Amino acid sequence: MDNVERITSEMDYPILATKGVVLFPHNDITIEAGRVFSKRAIRKSNESLNSYILVVPQKDPSSDNITLQALSGYGCVAKIKSTRNFDNGIIKVALSGLSRAKINSLYQEDGVFYASFDVLEDEDISIDEEEAYVRTTAKALEEYMSSGTNTIPKATFERLSKGLEISELTDIISQSVVKDYKRQIELLNELNVGKRMDICIAYIKSEKQIGKIESEIDKKVREKLDANQREYILREKLRVIKEELGDVTPTDKDADGLRQMVKDNPYPDYVKVKAESEIKRLEMMNSSSPEYSMQKSYIDWLLNTPWYQKTEDTTDIFEVEKILNEDHYGLEKIKERILEYLAVKTVTNSLKAPIICFSGPPGVGKTSLAKSIARALDRKFVKFSLGGLKDESEIRGHRRTYLGSLPGRIIQGMRKAGVINPVFLLDEIDKMGGDYKGDPTSAMLELLDPEQNKYFSDNYIEEPYDLSNVLFICTANYLENIPAPLVDRLEIINVDSYTELEKVQIAIRHLVAKQLIAHGIENEGIIFEESAIMHIIRYYTRESGVRNLERAIAKICRKLVIRKLKNKDQILDIKDINIDAVKEFLGKEIFDYSRKEVTDQVGVVTGLAYTQYGGDILPIEANYFTGKGALILTGKLGEVMKESASIAFDYVKANADKFEIDKTLFEKIDVHIHVPEGAVPKDGPSAGITLTTALVSLLTGRSVRSDVAMTGEVTLRGNVLPIGGLKEKSISAHRSGIKTVIIPKDNVKDLDDLPQLILDEVKFI
Ligand code: ADP
Repeated sequence: MDNVERITSEMDYPILATKGVVLFPHNDITIEAGRVFSKRAIRKSNESLNSYILVVPQKDPSSDNITLQALSGYGCVAKIKSTRNFDNGIIKVALSGLSRAKINSLYQEDGVFYASFDVLEDEDISIDEEEAYVRTTAKALEEYMSSGTNTIPKATFERLSKGLEISELTDIISQSVVKDYKRQIELLNELNVGKRMDICIAYIKSEKQIGKIESEIDKKVREKLDANQREYILREKLRVIKEELGDVTPTDKDADGLRQMVKDNPYPDYVKVKAESEIKRLEMMNSSSPEYSMQKSYIDWLLNTPWYQKTEDTTDIFEVEKILNEDHYGLEKIKERILEYLAVKTVTNSLKAPIICFSGPPGVGKTSLAKSIARALDRKFVKFSLGGLKDESEIRGHRRTYLGSLPGRIIQGMRKAGVINPVFLLDEIDKMGGDYKGDPTSAMLELLDPEQNKYFSDNYIEEPYDLSNVLFICTANYLENIPAPLVDRLEIINVDSYTELEKVQIAIRHLVAKQLIAHGIENEGIIFEESAIMHIIRYYTRESGVRNLERAIAKICRKLVIRKLKNKDQILDIKDINIDAVKEFLGKEIFDYSRKEVTDQVGVVTGLAYTQYGGDILPIEANYFTGKGALILTGKLGEVMKESASIAFDYVKANADKFEIDKTLFEKIDVHIHVPEGAVPKDGPSAGITLTTALVSLLTGRSVRSDVAMTGEVTLRGNVLPIGGLKEKSISAHRSGIKTVIIPKDNVKDLDDLPQLILDEVKFI
């Protein structure tokens, strides 16, 4: 626990002991207090402690005995947001969890329990570990929900899909997903976010398993029911007959309310007809039967899906431009293309307009551009992530004969939007699961084609739904992974990596203000110095976009909030965030900002890679030892890269004379090529010249300059072919302190797209 900060609070806070409920930081909950000492604690806190209170779970919820041993060792410092008194003596209190606290001692005064405590901070884990945890959790949650029997409250789900910091993520899951009291106490007592994440993931996985078993049981019951269907139908008929004879008077308030809704609203006729007949069926049912609630929830979905509600678009293109500029720094060409696109779309109102797809590495602003378009047009915004999509039913829903069935994510999104013309973001269309059942491409083509999506069919809703007013926008990390027929329908807009200077500007103009507001400290006069931001970029992040940068800023803001809380009178004593403050709040530097190789060596060459996470430098090492002329490749290379290596080897062998290499050498040695760094996916032909150079260097004993990087495909005859991703590769070379980059001649035309800064500071040969 060395890196856990622990500061004793200046004051002791009153204790609110809870039973069966655990409050976590980052969360708001409402609880009912009935016990006298609890109510006094609340009053005391409101009167003289600025509404701060310590919420501590009891180990044994059945006891009212408050002792240090009976309480969990840890609690949560909270602020009371509001209280409401009820006639029966209960006080409902809304609490906002702020931070974990360790309880040191307990005493009673005027019928209130007080504790002295230490405010504790989370033990952090590395950014890489964090990323791995976030991904695993996202996957576990998705599987958890896809089983159909498990659900997560909508508000929680929305918060979770926001790309949160890991400590916040674990706390939200602990609060709203984990339902086991003991497990929650365990989570409150754990300071290491990694360990907390382990507990959460284990919980989600076991619940998923239980959910699966439950749904199997359901299925069996269902099958049995089907066998009884005949009887059911007969009974139903009997009921109708009885009704005809006036023997039954369905006095169903539900049905009346629904009928009124149908009457009062301008649903399309076919929806009205359908709703009427479904309401009739509902009336025939026994209101305590499971069928009744299924039927009712169907009608509920049918009537609450938007069929006619619409927002009015802003048509003032200047206004749109203003908003795009307000939300994003730079990106001039992209904003221009968006404006052109929107202008053409409003003028022609053409259904056939292609769909915009923002393509680029994570964190470069694809999602936020889409949100900004929605804001600019005055439209609602909804998002559906296609990453890991496995089943067409996720898009189209399940038939309502299944217990617990729901509409697919498209209709769910529409209901959330509440209008027929939202901006609908289809995130990560390049990541639709490889193990998808059915054909995801054709499902997507149908969804995005306005001729066909006018009659979109959802298995649950049953009636055709018109999606032609929706403005669909897609995002992708890696164009190569989008199926070709789909690419044809898309208007691809590339959003590239940012240079360091662009990142600094984005942080200063947008990210800092956003995070200060999000943490409620925008009026404290806090200033982030430019040099501090640059320090974060260079030593705490290594990315194409600004996502980790934003997270690091968020982390600093969080620590500022905690610091403020801990100080007497809650006054913040640090306003100027400079490099020292960054080091204090973020801990030791994580990345080494410098070239990986600093000395010129034999057989060691710097290549450049282009992956879905942006560009990166890719060092290649070659060595040889006594052997029989074999080529050994290590470093988890992809097939194409392995082929490039053998091409390079054969080429060097065939041209040994030209390079003054002793030909007999090849019979006496084995050559070993290794590409270090497991994290970067290594494939593609563009390392050809790097591999060739490494071999020539190795076999001639001449060292290669370490400040030069290179990229280019090589053929067997030694021709150099052009490569992709020059811009991303160049930015990453610049980021790594490389001064010279060797590129294929055919790529010279692409240099025009490079930021001026890179052209000024890197020499291209
Ligand atoms: P993506 O969807 O490309 O992965 P996001 O849209 O989630 O990235 O962007 C990450 C964060 O960075 C968001 O908070 C976004 O607002 C911010 N951001 C990215 N680019 C810019 C920019 N050019 N100007 C202002 N903020 C930006």
